[in-house]
Formats: sequence, structure tokens, C-alpha cells
Amino acid sequence: MDKVYLTWWQVDRAIFALADELRKNFMPDVIVGVARGGLIPAVRLSHILGDLEVKVIDVKFYKDIDERMEKPVINIPLHGSLEGKKVVIVDDVSDTGKTLEVVIEEVKKAGASEVKVACLSMKPWTKVVPDFYVFRTDKWIVFPWEEFPVVVRE
Ligand code: 5GP
Repeated sequence: MDKVYLTWWQVDRAIFALADELRKNFMPDVIVGVARGGLIPAVRLSHILGDLEVKVIDVKFYKDIDERMEKPVINIPLHGSLEGKKVVIVDDVSDTGKTLEVVIEEVKKAGASEVKVACLSMKPWTKVVPDFYVFRTDKWIVFPWEEFPVVVRE
């Protein structure tokens, strides 16, 4: 699968753009960051939007690049109530959309009054198109916080 590499600069600009749109369209009370990929954008957004509360949910679905498990598994559930809160779920990318489906359900179960999804990127085939996103690609995205492969010459 072809890869596309995003830089810190591109990602930071994208997060600022998301923050602008959130301010205009849906100022949340709480950010739910999806571990691991959504955590860095979630924390950055929290600071930009004025120290919003960040809650974490850890959902595992991928074993390797483009290699999935049968279904997403919740490793760390949401802690506490979201009763009556406006919540934005933040993840790095909506690929199949199955992870976000699970997270949306959990956030609703926790009592959120309104739920929106913000991602840095989405894939054209996803079943959960984020309410807010910046990039759209059919390639495997390598984010700046991920490992870059090193070729070791024999
Ligand atoms: P989904 O459930 O939408 O298929 O996948 C969601 C999670 O899988 C994302 O939060 C992300 O951690 C991982 N993932 C899916 N596609 C990509 C990709 O292109 N690049 C990276 N780095 N992670 C991905």
C-alpha cells in the first residue's frame, strides 16, 4: 500500500484549522481522544481551545499496516459521566470507520447530549465521515509521531 508522510508542520496547521471550525460551529465541553492516534491532536486541540477537558478511550483494531483484527476492542473504557455534555471525539484518521462507530456509541452511552467527530484525515471508503476533517486520501498515512522506517544497508 502506498504511503503518505505528514510533517509536524502540516499536522499542526491542520489542528489549528480544526480548532477554528470547532469554535465557529461546535464549541465542545469535552474532548474524547482515541488512543493512540487521536491523543496528540486531542491534547493540542484542548490547549488551543482554552484548556478543555480531555477524556481518553483506547480502542485497538489494527495489528499492522492495513492489517485489522476481527473487530475493534476497547482496551481502556471511558471514565466517568458525560451527562449533558457537548463532546467532540478526536482521532487521527477514519479508515473503515469501525473504531469511531464503537467510540460514538460509548460516548452516547456515557450521556453526551451532542456528539461530533473531528479527524485529521479520512479515507474515501469510511462508513463514518467525520463532521470535521482536513485531509482525504486512499494511502496509508504516516503521522510525524510514528516511526519512520530506516533502511539498513547490508
Ligand atoms: P478504522 O477503525 O477507521 O479502520 O481505523 C481507525 C484507527 O486505525 C485509526 O485511529 C488509526 O489509529 C489506525 N489507522 C487506520 N488507517 C490508518 C492510516 O492510514 N495511518 C495510520 N497511521 N493509522 C491508521
